[in-house]
Amino acid sequence: MPLMSSRQMQTLIRPLVRGLTPYVPGEQPKIKGLIKLNTNENPYPPSPRVLAATRAAVDGRLRLYPNPTAQPLREKLARLHNCRPENIIVGNGSDELLALAVRAFVEPIVGQASRLSLAAKTPALRCSKSIVQFFTPSYSLYPVLGDIHGAARNAVPLSADFALPSLAELERARQWDFRAALTFLTTPNAPSGRGYRTEQLEELCCAHKGVVVLDEAYVDFARENALALALKYRHVLVARTFSKAYSLCFQRVGYCVGHPGLIAALNKIRDSYNVNGLGQVAALATLDDLPRYRANFQRIIVTREQLSRELEVLGFRVFPSHTNFILVRPPKYSALWWLKKLRDRKILVRWFSDPSVQDYLRITIGRPDEAAALVKAAKTIL
Ligand SMILES: *Cc1c(COP(=O)(O)O)cnc(C)c1O
Repeated sequence: MPLMSSRQMQTLIRPLVRGLTPYVPGEQPKIKGLIKLNTNENPYPPSPRVLAATRAAVDGRLRLYPNPTAQPLREKLARLHNCRPENIIVGNGSDELLALAVRAFVEPIVGQASRLSLAAKTPALRCSKSIVQFFTPSYSLYPVLGDIHGAARNAVPLSADFALPSLAELERARQWDFRAALTFLTTPNAPSGRGYRTEQLEELCCAHKGVVVLDEAYVDFARENALALALKYRHVLVARTFSKAYSLCFQRVGYCVGHPGLIAALNKIRDSYNVNGLGQVAALATLDDLPRYRANFQRIIVTREQLSRELEVLGFRVFPSHTNFILVRPPKYSALWWLKKLRDRKILVRWFSDPSVQDYLRITIGRPDEAAALVKAAKTIL
């Protein structure tokens, strides 16, 4: 039999999948001496206790399956958050949990007719049960997760300076769908770094009929968190991760807090052993060492404020941040030009092509010496 043509081969793939544009993660280049400020990783390593616990777990037990429900980790998290283990699901990074939420709560669109009705501008004609909703700019994974599932997106712009629009503004503009099956809200916001008041988040959640996921990936660098809302309202989930604040990107551990009913729905559709064993060990050891991590957050916040002031002096517009990164508008030249010039000097930052942020660079807060190198490079470029 002759080889299948590539056209024929393409027909083996679902049309939806053929048409997908995948999520683009930040680069992880292996360049010696590179200052890597592009993916919001923590510049400080995990604590020695976490490294020791992880190393100690590398032995013959690697042949065994890990705890399928991450039970010990959920118990410890429940004590930390004053709730029950049934309020918590652990995932292979919080990304997995965001994807599970789409699959559990959003009805995929079937057929072209309903596709058309989803585009309807009038709220009454919208098919809210198929909508994944989010503000722009926010985490660029949300639209991709919706597309993979065959859901409809409703992307609504944030107000000036990345503030959350008020309820009255959202109602007036009629674009926001308070019945959307699933709403993702990045708080503090990425890529702007702006933090939101719990009061305002509560007001917004209360106006919603569908599930609201508050994505708190960066909340440890902020002044307040909205975890209480997930324990107060049945339709609200809070997503957290060990990646950024707890220096465990490599291990892929995140979790969601919420009502046991929603958590049970997510549990039904996850893989049996979704969280790898070494990740569970590392996350457990992290929770035994929290004071050390809190000191680490403070160091990063101090560097963030210092770097922000120094870049402002050089003419950068710096947005106030409650995260471990800052969004800046560089002076004189385009953001893309700055990206290249900094890269030539072995400093990697992040640029997004989305029109809402294409004039800006997102800079992860590194160690003080990395921040100093960035300021020095900026001075030379200018
Ligand atoms: C990094 C990030 C996540 C995902 O983190 P995981 O590594 O998958 O736990 C989720 N939301 C936002 C906004 C992020 O920036």
